[in-house]
Amino acid sequence: MFSYVPPIEEYRFLLTHVLGFEQEMAELNRDVDADLAAAVLEEAGRMCADRLHPLNRHGDEEGSRLVDGLVKTPEGFAEAWRDFAAAGWASLSASLDHGGQGLPFILQLWLDEMLSAANLSFGLFPGLTRGACEAIIAHASDDLKATYLPPMVSGEWTGAMALTESGAGTDLALLKTKAVPLGNGSFAVTGQKIFISSGDHDFGGNIVHLVLARLPDAPLGVKGISLFLVPKYLPDAQGGFTVRNGMSVGALEKKMGIHAQPTCVMNYDEATGWLVGEANKGLAAMFTMMNAERLMVGIQGLGIAGAAYQQAAAYAKERLQGRSADGARGPVAIIDHADVRRMLLNIRAFVEAGRALGGWTALQLDRAHHHPDPAERAKADALVALLTPVVKAAFTDFGFESAVQAQQVFGGHGYIREWGMEQYVRDARIAQIYEGTNGVQAMDLVGRKLPMAGGTVVEGFFDMIAAELAQGAGGTVADGTREALGLLRAATERLRGAGVEATGAAAVDYLRLFALVSMGWMWTRMAEAAQGDDGFHQAKRAVADFFAQRMLPQAQGLAASLAAGEASIMALDADAF
Ligand SMILES: Cc1cc2nc3c(=O)[nH]c(=O)nc-3n(C[C@H](O)[C@H](O)[C@H](O)COP(=O)(O)OP(=O)(O)OC[C@H]3O[C@@H](n4cnc5c(N)ncnc54)[C@H](O)[C@@H]3O)c2cc1C
Repeated sequence: MFSYVPPIEEYRFLLTHVLGFEQEMAELNRDVDADLAAAVLEEAGRMCADRLHPLNRHGDEEGSRLVDGLVKTPEGFAEAWRDFAAAGWASLSASLDHGGQGLPFILQLWLDEMLSAANLSFGLFPGLTRGACEAIIAHASDDLKATYLPPMVSGEWTGAMALTESGAGTDLALLKTKAVPLGNGSFAVTGQKIFISSGDHDFGGNIVHLVLARLPDAPLGVKGISLFLVPKYLPDAQGGFTVRNGMSVGALEKKMGIHAQPTCVMNYDEATGWLVGEANKGLAAMFTMMNAERLMVGIQGLGIAGAAYQQAAAYAKERLQGRSADGARGPVAIIDHADVRRMLLNIRAFVEAGRALGGWTALQLDRAHHHPDPAERAKADALVALLTPVVKAAFTDFGFESAVQAQQVFGGHGYIREWGMEQYVRDARIAQIYEGTNGVQAMDLVGRKLPMAGGTVVEGFFDMIAAELAQGAGGTVADGTREALGLLRAATERLRGAGVEATGAAAVDYLRLFALVSMGWMWTRMAEAAQGDDGFHQAKRAVADFFAQRMLPQAQGLAASLAAGEASIMALDADAF
């Protein structure tokens, strides 16, 4: 099995030369310099590479199992979780007020990249716990916060999010789980949820479920959904948490990938829960959790692509097949073949730009929380809202495509289990589906994010990119990005006020075009920052050219498809399918 090498040099380059990390931190009055940030990432990388990556293959093969109604995670996972929490990785970006370490979110995002690269199944445990903490911080009562946050932030307890039911997936208005008030401030929650990640495990400690349910008098539809905190263990008379709540794992889903991750069918049978936020406003409260999760899920695509690239590049330098282009030498390493290079560069051009764009988005999240000026906080918050569906959907689409291309580099050896490439393909696939399918993310971008503040948020984003491109030194990638930005602006104009069908027909192509422009912007920054003669800088400029010449032109095709509108999509009667 290959090892995983955390991309620390890349992070350093981005922090110091591309993202203006230290200036950002100074503006936010935060005392974190690039050296400290890189040292934290290096340490995090060691945990991911040395402790979690070695469990990835075995976790896939053994999988989580249900034994006497309780989940047993693969051997080594429980110990790894305890080590992970004890070393402080579970609380990296949680605020100091809640017992966290208060480090910038950009470090969290890149820790998530390394976690996803090393062991996607494992990474979901801290990711979901963090999302649950954020929803509790934003919406729960002081009592609930005091009881549940400290052990969740430290990683002693974990979190899960329970939305989906067999009849209610994308459309949560259809959910049926009930919550009946017990008159003492608590509620009896009854119903069945499916597909609940990290719903149970054997790490020890409590598992705090955030469950969407309906109160007896709730209005129909999404306006009648409330959010409840339902722990696996309830407090006993001594203040410990030993009393089993009325919830159980009905089954573990048998699935394509992330086998080590326990995806549970959860039965709540008059389980005791407490309202989080206001009655009937549960969906808004849950969105706090979902937005945090969406960025993380996008980064899962990036992480897998980065890991798969490393393995495929190493293999391509070793594997001997075929002759050199002039026929003089052979067998040569397959890295000499143009088609193999094309596949590797497709992956690398996404990964390096995605890492930069993810980092930029994370810095906006830091600004949204910490900037002294409320107007700057609001502006940054809006930019995060705009970019969240792009990161979620584009990164997971590119992530899956990357896993497939890395597998292709291995030929038949990528299809058999031995090299681990088919696991990347199986694991990467889910990220396009959960946390709102990528189609639904794209509709969120077009239907909800473009109209934000009368369209001024998206226009402001485009203007910022245009201004940077105008100020820069130019070059292939800057020119290509300027042209693609023009196509994106025209598509945005056409979609203004579009109806449901026009939006649905355009959204996925539009999101991809948006992502290509955003990545082109990051490639422009990186190419301009990499003017040295060393191998690292030369490679950056070469991959920037590849992106400009081989990936950005996809913008033309997307623009043409967008301009064609929805007519051909809606032409067939449903019966004709
Ligand atoms: C391994 C795994 C882990 C998961 N973890 C969790 C978890 O921890 N907690 C949780 O609550 N859920 C979880 N989920 C559920 C996941 O979020 C849902 O599966 C997902 O949101 C889609 O819902 P669905 O499966 O019911 O598909 P559906 O909603 O039935 O969608 C089917 C198809 O129709 C499309 N579609 C649906 N509605 C529309 C629309 N209005 N317009 C256009 N297209 C539409 C979708 O994009 C999709 O392509 C998990 C799922 C899996 C498989």
